[in-house]
Amino acid sequence: MTTDWREIESRVFMTTGRRMPVVVVRGEGTRVWDDAGKPYLDFFGGPAVHSLGHCHPVLVKAIEEQARTLIHVSNAVYSVPQLQLAQLLIDNSCFDRVYFQNSGTEANEAAIKLARKWGRERKRGAYEIISAVDSFHGRTLAAVTATGTTRYSEPFVPLPAGFTKVMFGDIEAIEMATTPDTCAIILEPIQGEGGVNVPDPSYFPSLREWCDEQKILLMVDEVQTGMCRTGPLFAYQGMGFEPDVMTLAKGLGGGVPVGAILAKEDASIFTPGDHGSTFGGNPLATAAAYAVTKYMLENDMPARVARLSDYFFDKLETLQSSQPLISGVRGKGLLLAIGLTKDVAERVTMECLSNGLIVNNVRPNAVRLAPPLTVSEAEIDEAVAVIETALASAEA
Ligand SMILES: *Cc1c(COP(=O)(O)O)cnc(C)c1O
Repeated sequence: MTTDWREIESRVFMTTGRRMPVVVVRGEGTRVWDDAGKPYLDFFGGPAVHSLGHCHPVLVKAIEEQARTLIHVSNAVYSVPQLQLAQLLIDNSCFDRVYFQNSGTEANEAAIKLARKWGRERKRGAYEIISAVDSFHGRTLAAVTATGTTRYSEPFVPLPAGFTKVMFGDIEAIEMATTPDTCAIILEPIQGEGGVNVPDPSYFPSLREWCDEQKILLMVDEVQTGMCRTGPLFAYQGMGFEPDVMTLAKGLGGGVPVGAILAKEDASIFTPGDHGSTFGGNPLATAAAYAVTKYMLENDMPARVARLSDYFFDKLETLQSSQPLISGVRGKGLLLAIGLTKDVAERVTMECLSNGLIVNNVRPNAVRLAPPLTVSEAEIDEAVAVIETALASAEA
């Protein structure tokens, strides 16, 4: 008999969200197993965390070796994996400096602090930050205030001042929202939690020009889109512009909690005493992230993701031609969503789950797919077959 973990959760856990009715106990590659031994294909992926799949041998080895060597040491001393990872990220991006955190929301919190200090010192005290409707930046107080779903912040008023929201993808809306007090704009290159929303290719290059003209920091939240999720190591690299600041987390550690803020020299305004973290950049987390990043670069992950993405898009578009419930397929790389003509995403998700595929109803009418970047063509075929069955029964 298996332990009733759902019953235990209902008694001892602070429930903050709804879970799928499955207890996952083990993972390998694209697959996980529940406590009854049933396998599932994991196309939820963390979400977008399992960049190398579950328990990739390269990641496991890096963690094992680092665990035997040095798990944690304070940031009051130098440690090697942290600086190796820093160098690797700087060498492969447009940024000059990095600081490590433990999560996406913390990385964004750091970006918000950086922007505020930059405005104070470089732009006569400018402090306003523009973000997008339907964006997601995390759950700490400033990050949740920047987040474009007011339901997430409303219970916690009063919120920090100086945040403005505009429609994502609308350059004129940004121009109208800009004031002499605007210090930064923070946006996801592709909105993840908002439903996998891809902006027009002209959006970010135009925004770059606007930010240069108005002296505003352009900050991208690549917590979900970074680490080859959309193809290039960082999504901005495939979108024709360079941001001033970038945040990372999810896929960076391949499952080990680690986040980062990266900035160009001009925006790197933190001086000793401004910021800090006990765990941020600790040897265990950064050794894991270093192994993940190095693996991606040495194995040309961007090319792999591009190839698998084409394959996946093809299969889904073929499915669309015979399945009227699908309104469209959107996304980039291996961050995809199936748009539906009716609000049946939850039903489709539950049908998929009972047929051994974990996906997520990111919107009432959209199902997100974010498999490990190591997913195979055969696993994509298997997933598409399950989705086809689920859509057929959701339509019935
Ligand atoms: C998940 C996510 C976050 C928050 O990351 P946490 O590690 O959960 O704090 C922030 N921004 C984006 C774009 C995300 O997808």
